[in-house]
Amino acid sequence: MYRALKVDERFCLICNESLDEIRSLEDLLFQHRTICTACQNQFKPVQKIFRIHDREWHVLYEYNDFLERLFFRYKEQRDIVLAPIFLERIRDHLKKMRSYQVCGLCSSDKHRLHRGFEPLIEMFKPYGIEVLSPLYKTRPVKQSAQSKASRKQIHTILKRKELYPLSKKKILLVDDVCTTGSSLEAACQLLDPQCVFVVAAHPQWLQTHASMGIEKKSSFW
Ligand SMILES: [Zn+2]
Repeated sequence: MYRALKVDERFCLICNESLDEIRSLEDLLFQHRTICTACQNQFKPVQKIFRIHDREWHVLYEYNDFLERLFFRYKEQRDIVLAPIFLERIRDHLKKMRSYQVCGLCSSDKHRLHRGFEPLIEMFKPYGIEVLSPLYKTRPVKQSAQSKASRKQIHTILKRKELYPLSKKKILLVDDVCTTGSSLEAACQLLDPQCVFVVAAHPQWLQTHASMGIEKKSSFW
């Protein structure tokens, strides 16, 4: 096995394995990566477009245990070095997002202050994509801790910032995790985006929307 003896040896951002060891053809092909092939293989790609109320929703991954742990490390344990890994797979296509105003569902100010960074914004930043934040929540809601009924209340909690100008450019609405989709649906009503992009959708959401999947290649991958 080839072992590089360099001072600038690179390590997987997830598991800390050396990235300079070549174990497979994939290792040779993806030398620019920030994560190892073993970690990359634990992501479960969906890479499908769903047509919902005449709008295309582009879903990159299925939310699985692996991603749940990663999001926990990144968002709750504030392991900010993980920021680039979520979009690593589609890094070569992300520049296509620059023709949009990319708008995100960001955390409440309280959450952001506590955490010290905005996870959604940092995920896109390494790829030169600026995520705008034209919406706000009138009170903090932690989606994962909410019941299905109270999640529906997001429509009354989510508002458009009055003094946040957007240009005439088409809007791409992005989010990290789509659980029930209720926040994203509420945001769609407020922003009327051209399309939606989610990093990971829950298996339950994917199942419910299976019939809305369309056979079309996304320009984002
Ligand atoms: Zn790894």
